[in-house]
Amino acid sequence: MYLPLPGDYIDIHVHGGSPASGVFILESLMAHEEKSPVALAGVAYTYGIHPWFLNEGNHRQLLISVANSVINPEIIAIGEAGFDRLRGPSMLIQRIAFEEQVAISEETEKPVIIHCVRAWDELLSVQKKLKPRMPWLVHGFRGNRELAGQLLAKGMYLSLWFDFALKPESGELLRSLPINRIFLETDGAEADIRNIYLKVATDLDLDVDELKTSLLNNFKSFFNYDSLLTTG
Ligand SMILES: [Zn+2]
Repeated sequence: MYLPLPGDYIDIHVHGGSPASGVFILESLMAHEEKSPVALAGVAYTYGIHPWFLNEGNHRQLLISVANSVINPEIIAIGEAGFDRLRGPSMLIQRIAFEEQVAISEETEKPVIIHCVRAWDELLSVQKKLKPRMPWLVHGFRGNRELAGQLLAKGMYLSLWFDFALKPESGELLRSLPINRIFLETDGAEADIRNIYLKVATDLDLDVDELKTSLLNNFKSFFNYDSLLTTG
């Protein structure tokens, strides 16, 4: 298993990425793709059921695939998993699949990467019901301060949506967030994680190296880095 090193840019949510010098990526494998992680320098993996690709017919099989795959030490988190009100099956089946993946997260002690679109009530209600010990990270966040505050109050981490992070108007939100709970991502789009770091560092009045140090510390706490080192 590979983990980010001091000085690396960390791209916390990627699909179909390839390693580049000085950039560590967390590649998000989706259970329906039936891909296996490949040990590569500069890459670690997450594995989960993306709500867009879940349905009544494949639910059992995808869940078995998650349970079997996440034992692999290359996979350091469950997900992306969660809720989408605009695309995917009924909220009921999304909720069942999400709760099952949370149970796997708790059993394997691997945190959860969350996809959530217009279903914050569902996400918060599962969090309240299950009271997970493992941390959760909401990827692609582009909400307002109030929503950010609600999620942070529940102990969640936020990774800003790349397009939002690059816009001038995200500066105010960024300055309101605790720096020890944020991550940055490209989501596998054309954006360059180095440009996102530069923009966010400028917003926060930091230099890029300081931001790298902060986000590496966040990685270490979110993934319980010391235990990864002993199990990997
Ligand atoms: Zn994704």
